[in-house]
Amino acid sequence: MRTDRTFTMLKPDSVEKGNVGPILEKITSAGFRIAAMKLTQMTVADAQAFYAIHKERPFFGELVQYMTRGPIVAAILEKENAVEDFRTLIGATNPEEAAEGTIRKLYAASIGENAVHGSDSDENAEIESQFHFAGREIF
Ligand code: UDP
Ligand code: MG
Repeated sequence: MRTDRTFTMLKPDSVEKGNVGPILEKITSAGFRIAAMKLTQMTVADAQAFYAIHKERPFFGELVQYMTRGPIVAAILEKENAVEDFRTLIGATNPEEAAEGTIRKLYAASIGENAVHGSDSDENAEIESQFHFAGREIF
């Protein structure tokens, strides 16, 4: 299992607010290389599958509605220790608890609309990258 890749989505609120450029600047300035990237929109079925681990949680319906309401930017990022370093860069799920200077502290509105996704393990980085980029030569 490789440890130098993670997967991210700049969520619909980031695209709507025009924050894609500033967020990508934060990501590349932190030493991540963009290995693959696309603007896309998830269907309801896509979002339900991507977030299937949360399907019993009370916020699941809202999460699916939010993640499908407009385009996202999906990307595979490369850096040594990618998963952990990217989670540090984005900050806590709830922006009110996110450290100063983190992407969620700077750009997230709430725990629900929190600007960015970051994989939580090397295994999930691979699964989530395949979800959005299956068939590409980068694998
Ligand atoms: N979420 C939410 N309410 C919560 C927890 C999570 O709406 O109480 C949303 C939020 O968009 C979050 C996503 O569900 O990013 C996935 O939750 P997770 O706990 O995996 O947080 P993350 O890994 O994104 O920090
Ligand atoms: Mg998560």
